[in-house]
Amino acid sequence: MSRSVIYPGSFDPVTYGHIDVIKRAARMFDAVIVAVAKDTHKKTLFDTEERMDLMRQAIQGVAGVSIESFEGLVITYARRKKVNTLIRGLRMISDFEYELQMALTNRRLDEGVETVFLMPSEGYAFLSSTLIKEAAALDADLSSFVPEFVAERLKRKLVHRKA
Ligand code: ADP
Repeated sequence: MSRSVIYPGSFDPVTYGHIDVIKRAARMFDAVIVAVAKDTHKKTLFDTEERMDLMRQAIQGVAGVSIESFEGLVITYARRKKVNTLIRGLRMISDFEYELQMALTNRRLDEGVETVFLMPSEGYAFLSSTLIKEAAALDADLSSFVPEFVAERLKRKLVHRKA
């Protein structure tokens, strides 16, 4: 039986941490659907198309990974896709409470859907899209956080428009 998994998130923008999680998931599952959230509780810097476009470039060459967008409950989306496993990333202990709450809420909504947590390589465990955006606005070197094409797009939005 072919096993698929959904990795939902805002990915605003994709970082080396997300890419690390996607590669790990791709080794464990036959198909990984990266699901870019259209409506997130966070105000995003990049619109859905931009976030999908950056993700598309980021996972080029990783076999078995596709990208989609979704809106509404991830559980509803998973049911529609007939996928019963979600992937989430865990960085620090600080992620744990929120992620556990979300996983248990999703389980209450649908007992058939499990959440699997993956830890990134420790070198990426401190990376967050939010901090990277702050660093980008201050024109920091982003090369160890995000791929070059993501850094360029960030700088174009956050630094050059100020000039
Ligand atoms: P969301 O708004 O859904 O939290 P994010 O794009 O911030 O979307 O994160 C998507 C998932 O990826 C979350 O489970 C988050 O914990 C995880 N994640 C984010 N950054 C990293 C990282 N550096 N390493 C591992 N997982 C990460």
